[in-house]
Amino acid sequence: MTTSHTTRFTKALATPCIILAALVPSLWAAEGELPPREATEQWEPVPEVVSVPLDTGVPSDAVVLFDGRSLEAWEPVKAGSSGWEVKEGTMSVVSGAGAMKTKRSFGSIQLHLEFRTPHMPDKKGQSRANSGVFFMGLYELQILDSYQNPTYVNGQAGSIYKQYAPLVNASRKPGEWQTYDVIFTAPVFNDAGELQSPAYMTVLHNGVLVQNHVALKGPTLNRGYPAYTPHPAKLPLELQDHRNPMFFRNIWVREL
Ligand code: MG
Repeated sequence: MTTSHTTRFTKALATPCIILAALVPSLWAAEGELPPREATEQWEPVPEVVSVPLDTGVPSDAVVLFDGRSLEAWEPVKAGSSGWEVKEGTMSVVSGAGAMKTKRSFGSIQLHLEFRTPHMPDKKGQSRANSGVFFMGLYELQILDSYQNPTYVNGQAGSIYKQYAPLVNASRKPGEWQTYDVIFTAPVFNDAGELQSPAYMTVLHNGVLVQNHVALKGPTLNRGYPAYTPHPAKLPLELQDHRNPMFFRNIWVREL
């Protein structure tokens, strides 16, 4: 198209556009009709201040469950068990001592936990560095050495055991510290004991998203299909003794 053609074309379009705009005032008035900016500003309630010290990374409103020194926040699940031990700043499984549970009960929480799997080259699958985090003592986020260790995918590290495989395998080698950061939403039951809302989990494994707000099918089962039965709104958090060594440090939760 030549310049003169372009000019003629623009002029030809301009007149109908002006007429159309005049007939439809909202095209001009739209901006003026928007509410003032203040109308969509929310000022209350002001979020509470939570400080996160650079050295520890533990939020000021967190409940510290293990800081490397004592097991005072924990007790054995099994009656008569002497529980686990504190070794070189870690909370470590004593094989056969059974699971450990928190003395406090929790519902919906944000959890941070660090674990180190032992080197067990003579074992494979579910027998290689197995443990687990049981939210409310019922819903297991699997802990396993899943570094070059095939097993059923909904039983590897980062899985919601026997329910959801992790989105990716973010496992580190045995002996290296790993992190779980979890948002756990407790299930809700009505007064008749009917499920109103299932449990949900979002999990970051070593900072990588492996479970994205998945709806749990019920408490963890090794055999059979999970189904909900009503339980209290708050229950202790548990760590599994699968008769394998396992080391934990820096465990804290924030109640949601
Ligand atoms: Mg396990």
